[in-house]
Amino acid sequence: MKKFNIKKISIVLYAVLLASVLGFIIINNYILSEEKIELSYSDFIAGIESGEVTKVYLTETSKIEGNLSDGSTFITDNPRVDTLKETLLLNDVSVDEQDGQINMNTVLSFVLLIGVLVGISIYLSKKGTRQTSKEYDKMSKVEFSTQKDSSVRFADIAGNEEAKENMIELVDFLKNPEKYTRYGAKMPKGVILYGPPGTGKTIMAKALASEAGVDFIAVSGSDFVQVYAGLGAGRIRSLFKDAKDKGKCVIFIDEIDAIGKKRDRGGLGGSDESDRTLNALLTEMSGFKGSEGIIVMAATNRIDILDDALLRPGRFDRQIEVGLPDLKARQEILKLYSQNRPIDAEINLDGLAQQTVYFSGAKLENLVNEAAIYAAREDAPYINQNHLDKAFYTVIAGEEKKDRSGISHVDRKITAYHEAGHAVVTKILCPDNKVTKVTIIPSTKGAGGFSMNIPPDRMYNTKMNMINHVKVALGGRIVEEIIFGSDHITTGASNDIQKATEIIVAMIKQFGMHDEIGMVNFDVLYGNRNFVDDDVKQLTKKEMKQLYDETKLMIRENIGLVEKVAEELLRKETLNEDEINKIVGEYDEALLCS
Ligand code: ADP
Repeated sequence: MKKFNIKKISIVLYAVLLASVLGFIIINNYILSEEKIELSYSDFIAGIESGEVTKVYLTETSKIEGNLSDGSTFITDNPRVDTLKETLLLNDVSVDEQDGQINMNTVLSFVLLIGVLVGISIYLSKKGTRQTSKEYDKMSKVEFSTQKDSSVRFADIAGNEEAKENMIELVDFLKNPEKYTRYGAKMPKGVILYGPPGTGKTIMAKALASEAGVDFIAVSGSDFVQVYAGLGAGRIRSLFKDAKDKGKCVIFIDEIDAIGKKRDRGGLGGSDESDRTLNALLTEMSGFKGSEGIIVMAATNRIDILDDALLRPGRFDRQIEVGLPDLKARQEILKLYSQNRPIDAEINLDGLAQQTVYFSGAKLENLVNEAAIYAAREDAPYINQNHLDKAFYTVIAGEEKKDRSGISHVDRKITAYHEAGHAVVTKILCPDNKVTKVTIIPSTKGAGGFSMNIPPDRMYNTKMNMINHVKVALGGRIVEEIIFGSDHITTGASNDIQKATEIIVAMIKQFGMHDEIGMVNFDVLYGNRNFVDDDVKQLTKKEMKQLYDETKLMIRENIGLVEKVAEELLRKETLNEDEINKIVGEYDEALLCS
């Protein structure tokens, strides 16, 4: 059935009204007005004298009109002479002086036309405003999906133990916020989950909501990026209002970086649209009380580009890394997804976990799913190795370049040895430092792997400490050189080189720790913070070379330990503090016995 379009009908009505008024004016002025006889001026004068002209309308215009004795109307030129009226009166012609008055018909038509036009424009503008404000209201509402009691539980998330522990703590807070406020305990209002895509950030937030039995409101940061001024901020306010109306809930903002990018402070005080949106979010977050039982969770792949204001206390003050799964986590994820599928007993899931380095949880799920599709296509009784191999190829081949799952074995080996270098030098030179984690799984903050090295709390840093830190930084590159040869050293050490150079320069320029220079502060001497004179440059190079040689000697003597750590890293990908200490302990024992 055809629908009537109100807008179209209104346009037709306006057109009809306007046409009628114009028609009225034309008919009234041109068609219905009687035909006028054009008289020459001499005929006019003759007519006056003969008594044929009975009435004349005198005006100041160039033409004058009047009536003849038969009632018809004539028109003739106006001589604009003062004597004309006298002549007319002397000849008994009645005179109607109009003093520049305009024909009433014309005035009426004009007024009518203007009236109609004004009426139409007022009506249209009112209607427009009503419509715009209605549309604006509609646009300021952000659409979100709400879920309560979804079936996702923490048990459905494998690996990511630290992140899960953090979340479990929040469940009780969401359930009983009053309990915490009674003790004056402030729970986080906002939590940022950061890490590569597909690692389970969304599912983690969802699980938090369903474990706590509260609503889960999901939006995306890009929903707030708007071209109309103030609309993004309006949407933020409407989101929080809806959340408050619901009571306890988890608001999940995916891709928070779309609204929370670092603000450009270089501009001319520019508070542009994205600033306004971000400010609205900050204001809303500062606005609600902890007792309401609302937690804002946000996810991003790039925590480094977020505005500092977002990460301050009272906002997203808890940041949790959700990283790529290591071997153990991959085994668990694969087990989880094959649990309810008919998998051939021959399949070695642990072996598959070994092969799938740098796969995210989503990708592992996809891998098992693809294999299941291949099995279903063949009507096979079980998902077998062949299906998994095919699925593996499909998943790998379909991936984008950025993905790290294509990292070659050679690169993994380089990373493992490089990280083992850092860890071993730390263990030998800084026994008080804790090496809490060494991994060849890349972090979102930097390339390759990393080793987490926590120095003991101390008020002062000694010269020896600083030298040791330089040596730890150089350890990675030195191992690369010893194991792979000087032609095969890699770019992986660029951050280490920067750090080592900065420490040496600071020792010379700031801390008076170099014998040849002595206690001189270069900032005072040159009045320029960044100035490095030739002496400092030469000394830095000399010092670096010497520390490099010393570290190399030390690593050569302990290359067996480096190899042990690297091999374990290649096997397990991540080593925790106990595992590292165990390797070091066993190595020491072996040395003592030999
Ligand atoms: P992100 O938000 O980090 O991009 P998602 O939470 O959307 O990732 O993950 C996509 C899907 O991948 C999830 O719905 C889940 O099925 C699966 N997944 C990801 N990580 C895990 C994990 N650690 N354990 C179980 N499933 C996971």
